[in-house]
Amino acid sequence: MVDEGQPDGIEVHPSHAAEVGGLPVRRALPWHGRRTVGAWCFVDHFGPVGADRAETMQVGPHPHIGLQTVTWLLEGEVLHTDSLGSEQLIRPGQLNLMTAGAGIAHAESAQQGGTGSHGAQLWVALPDDTRGGPPAFEHHAELPRVELGGATATVLVGELAGVRSTARADTPLVGADIVVRPGRTVAPLQAGWEHAIVVLRGAVAVGERLLEPGSLAHLDVGREELVLEATDAARLLLLGGAPFGVEPLIWWNFVGRTRDEVARARDDWQAGRERFGSVRSHLERIPAPEVPW
Ligand code: MN
Repeated sequence: MVDEGQPDGIEVHPSHAAEVGGLPVRRALPWHGRRTVGAWCFVDHFGPVGADRAETMQVGPHPHIGLQTVTWLLEGEVLHTDSLGSEQLIRPGQLNLMTAGAGIAHAESAQQGGTGSHGAQLWVALPDDTRGGPPAFEHHAELPRVELGGATATVLVGELAGVRSTARADTPLVGADIVVRPGRTVAPLQAGWEHAIVVLRGAVAVGERLLEPGSLAHLDVGREELVLEATDAARLLLLGGAPFGVEPLIWWNFVGRTRDEVARARDDWQAGRERFGSVRSHLERIPAPEVPW
């Protein structure tokens, strides 16, 4: 069920089931008809999966172009290695932000040992002036927090309620994790931006809409604040940004603009060219599928 053109300016779309490296995910973005929210172009929510379960994220070396990957955990630990030589364990409350630029490769391996697995992986499309640039990796062990009355927000990227993350953002963007307490919370928004809510735990009402895990609520531009109401504790991601302007071409692990460019990246990965470097990992390199055009 898709709500389109609703008078409250909110479109709620169900996530679809997908799988990443053996882990089932709820893919909240993209969907047919909506490729981006600001520059956010990919949103996977995985877990919670108990520590006793076999499903964990084990993603062997694979390439990216034209995007940033954002890794955010609520439970569990994941080891990131990449072709820049980075080797970084990420824990709940920390941010891994990888900028692919013209090309990078990485692997992600959930660490075994008594913890469950719960989190989100997101992609940000890079603008034309940096998407062909050098790759980079940032780990933020500490992120700024801001009280919103009935909630505590951790600012991953961009700025919320006057508090800014130092994470790199190449376009006007916000990404925040909001822990909502029972009651009412008001979060300020940028009126010229579009926003999205992805509930990670519990349930939150926005106006007449009750939002739960397994969907993405898109909020049209023109909104100066977001009113969240909860009867029990809940947790959500707030994503937003200036409308991206162009529709990126997303295929496999690549974000580009043209088929030629994406097909070239695919060939470079398959041929093992220097563009994507090499990644230290005990996991197997992931081959690219054939391009469908
Ligand atoms: Mn990746």
